[in-house]
Amino acid sequence: MVNEYAIDGSYHITPGSGNHYSDEFRGAYGDYFLMSGSDFNVKYGLPNGADVRIKNGQVGYYVKSTGWSGFEVYDKYGDITQMMSLTLVNTFVEVGQNGGKVDPYNFYFFGQDREEEAYNFMLNQQKLWKKELMAYGVRDENGKKGVLVVPWFENGEDYSHPYVDKYGGVTNYTNPKQDIYYDVLFEIHTHPGFIYRPSVEDFEIAKKYLQMNISHFILGDHAYMKTEVYKTRSEQEIINNYYLLNGEVSLF
Ligand SMILES: [Zn+2]
Repeated sequence: MVNEYAIDGSYHITPGSGNHYSDEFRGAYGDYFLMSGSDFNVKYGLPNGADVRIKNGQVGYYVKSTGWSGFEVYDKYGDITQMMSLTLVNTFVEVGQNGGKVDPYNFYFFGQDREEEAYNFMLNQQKLWKKELMAYGVRDENGKKGVLVVPWFENGEDYSHPYVDKYGGVTNYTNPKQDIYYDVLFEIHTHPGFIYRPSVEDFEIAKKYLQMNISHFILGDHAYMKTEVYKTRSEQEIINNYYLLNGEVSLF
């Protein structure tokens, strides 16, 4: 029994449909036919509820990701009044291309009690991909906090694609059945292969965050560092500063 329907040139087959494919399919394609949907998603590290389809002979699923259509608008004090606007794009992500484990198109959420695990995840992935990884310390509408690692497929060695909207929030689009909106409390990103010190761009970003009460951190291999930017009351002067946070630190 095969159920299928066409969406955007992709089609959908109920996994575990009982067809006896054994030798003619390999890897993700064969597994897709043979395994139940939840087993498949676990094996390939897919988000819960990922709607796996076949398109052009490839197993994959659609993710919503953000694209830039933003620009910055400054008022007379040099403060940002509009930071960015985001557009949604649908991307078909093939399964199994990255060793079947971790997918740079996904969001990964770690509850506050798994904060350290989140940072270790980021450091490990940065080594594999030789790119910055970025996460936000977030709080959902029920007050639950955690670290949301955002997709890094567009990141570079010294650049992270931003996901904060102009209201200081971020949307997790990974589960196609339910977007989750969070308030952002802080941002943290890695610096692969170089020093912990903030770059010029980091200070600029921290300056923008200042107005949304978002703290800015850099995650080094053995230390956290806070980028601190603040204004004096009498003048519209921006002070750049940074300091190391030593030991086991929770950023919440
Ligand atoms: Zn940086």
